[in-house]
This record gives sequence, structure tokens and C-alpha cells, in this order.
Amino acid sequence: MDKKYRKYFRDRLCKDGETLKQYRKLFDAKRTPEEKRKEFRKNYKRLLEELMRLEGFKSENNCKCLLQYSPECDINSGITIDHIIPLSSNKINKEVRHIKAKNGKKVETESLGSNDLSNLIICCKNCNFAKKHIILDAKEMKNVLKRKNRVEKRNSK
Ligand SMILES: [Zn+2]
Repeated sequence: MDKKYRKYFRDRLCKDGETLKQYRKLFDAKRTPEEKRKEFRKNYKRLLEELMRLEGFKSENNCKCLLQYSPECDINSGITIDHIIPLSSNKINKEVRHIKAKNGKKVETESLGSNDLSNLIICCKNCNFAKKHIILDAKEMKNVLKRKNRVEKRNSK
């Protein structure tokens, strides 16, 4: 991970004295987004079950959206899994490296997030669709991680 890139995530994850190392499981920049997407699809059912168990949801009918990102947040839109750090994004190339799109081509995406359970969160389809490849700002990131840790802690007692 280069310096600027580390700073970008440190600004989002480490405002309260955390280290990036604590969050290393959220990242998997070594594999391509395609490889990770394939693995995610293949393991989707198991990951959803494990997340539901971690987060204390007995069945799909009592799941809550832990992302709460969209104004149209509604669990009845369907249940899905969001990657807190997206599997890939071109945001860093755009915002940190200031790479501009050329000849109508999109700015290249970068492999970022992992399929680790710590990077996954149960959410509604409306929120998942609204967030897409967006990287949350520091405040949103904290809120989501807090919400996730709170339900996981409560459930492990
Ligand atoms: Zn939602």
C-alpha cells in the first residue's frame, strides 16, 4: 500500500488512535477484484449464514439493515451483504492520485476490500445499491463499524 493510500484509509479508520494494522483484514489488495468477486459469489450462502449468526439474526425475516446508508433504507427491499471497504474502487485514483479519465474511458479501478467477515455487513438491497463502490467517509465508516461491533458483541455474550 503506498503512502497516500495509507493516509486515505488512516483518515477514515484511525481517527481515535487506532492503527491501520488493526483493520488489515478489511483489505485484500493482492488479488484482483474478479477473483474476489468470484470467491464472494461462490461462498455467498455460507457468508450470509455466518454473518446472521455473528449478528444474532435468527432468520432472514428478522434481519436488520446494519448499513443504514440510503434514505430509502428498507429491509423489505431484500437482504444482501455489503463490503464495508468495496472490493474495488476508482475513488483513490481519482481523489488521491488525481488521475483523470481519458478519452471517455473510466479511471482505472483499484483492488481494495476483502471477503473477510470483518469487512462484511448485512444490509438491505436499497442501501447496497445506493452505496455501490463508494468509500464511506470517516464518520459514516465509524458508525457502520460501531453498529456491526455492537450487535456482534451483544450476540457473543
Ligand atoms: Zn438499508
